[in-house]
Amino acid sequence: LGQRITASFRRLNQAPIIDDDLLDEVLKEIAAALLHADVNVRYVSELRSNVKKRVLLESDASGVNKRKLIQKAVVEELVRLVSTDRKPYKLEKGKCNIIMFVGLQGSGKTTTCTKYAHHYNRKGWKTALVCADTFRAGAFDQLKQNASKVRIPFYGDYNETDPVKIAEEGVELFKKEKYDLIIVDTSGRHKQEAALFDEMQQVAEVVAPNDIIFIMDSHIGQACFDQAKAFREVVDIGSVIITKLDGHAKGGGALSAVSATNSPIIFLGTGEHFDEFQPFDAQSFVSRLLGMGDLKGLFQTITEAMPLDKQPELLNKISKGRFSLRDLYEQFQNLQKMGPMSQLMQMIPGMSNLMPAGAEKEGVKRIKRFMVIMDSMTDTELDCEVQLNDSRKLRIARGAGASIPEVNLLIDEYKRMEKMVGKMGKSGLFGKGGELTQ
Ligand code: GDP
Ligand code: MG
Repeated sequence: LGQRITASFRRLNQAPIIDDDLLDEVLKEIAAALLHADVNVRYVSELRSNVKKRVLLESDASGVNKRKLIQKAVVEELVRLVSTDRKPYKLEKGKCNIIMFVGLQGSGKTTTCTKYAHHYNRKGWKTALVCADTFRAGAFDQLKQNASKVRIPFYGDYNETDPVKIAEEGVELFKKEKYDLIIVDTSGRHKQEAALFDEMQQVAEVVAPNDIIFIMDSHIGQACFDQAKAFREVVDIGSVIITKLDGHAKGGGALSAVSATNSPIIFLGTGEHFDEFQPFDAQSFVSRLLGMGDLKGLFQTITEAMPLDKQPELLNKISKGRFSLRDLYEQFQNLQKMGPMSQLMQMIPGMSNLMPAGAEKEGVKRIKRFMVIMDSMTDTELDCEVQLNDSRKLRIARGAGASIPEVNLLIDEYKRMEKMVGKMGKSGLFGKGGELTQ
């Protein structure tokens, strides 16, 4: 999706003049890309006419830059498409936050509960899981296994068949033990049916959740809208998590279903592993989609992967916009520790060139090559204290068994990263001591 839209933008940039015909054509291409990604038809035509209206209204004879205007309008409309005015529930420290998960069977509730628990547990929240699914055979075993893997206390009962009772008991127990965050996993059914909705309401009544999170499988595409709406009519959904966004381009249906729930998306699930889970921010998401790079997302991922004792140093450097080849080397090392490279790579502007979709293995290999090349650099070279002239490049290439163009490619990538870090330094994301301000 992003690629098709970016291609349309490129056309826009290359066109000598931008008249109404070209605008129509570009909008048509963008609309086709959105429809292809399963975005709800209604929103696509809305987006199209909104962009057009804005461009007609805001551009005038005095030469306002039409290209910029069109791009800005498209980006803003896309952001609007995936966001709502309603703020998500914010967990409160020093209080027992009860969060209930709902959604159809197979949507990813149990997996996502665990990811969510793991996410907050790592941030220091005292977290517990309650299994109120007595419908699916083996549901408790599944939650138990998940919870044990990420070392989170859990509650469930093999013999009890009443989910309402289990939910109540579990929440009561963890409340007494002063947990900050109690997560209640519920059962689903294959369809939206009365039995499921009754049960959901009853569980909600006894546990009195602070937030109800609706879990939606992005694979169902256009059907997302109606499903989200049906759930919304029964319980007060406060937030949405969209799952299985890995490995297919049809996420648009789910993303545009936010308006059906009138609730914000808070996380995205991008794989079966418990760390394949990303906080959702509409602005970052759209920039990433369009290949504009997502500084905030990248930064958070890097700091999460970075060993704690090393963080202040890196933060401080980045906040001053400084970034050397040695820092890049360390980032590569961290990236390697972090597993699914592809996701991360998508967040790094310029890096997506190295990691075309579907060629992750290639990308990983390339990064290893880069590290080999950096291994034959001297300390002063790594610290960027000397210019890498031709004779140095030749020596480095020889030492690494690489070619000069390979060394140049590495240097180009480094320069791109350095530029980005420079932007980060000025982005206002940091306080004076290099701490993250948001
Ligand atoms: P529940 O019935 O709603 O509790 O769904 P489960 O948590 O049991 O998940 C159903 C299946 O979807 C399992 O095989 C999960 O591993 C898988 N799953 C969940 N989330 C994701 C995701 O983000 N990506 C992928 N690829 N699989 C997922
Ligand atoms: Mg389940």
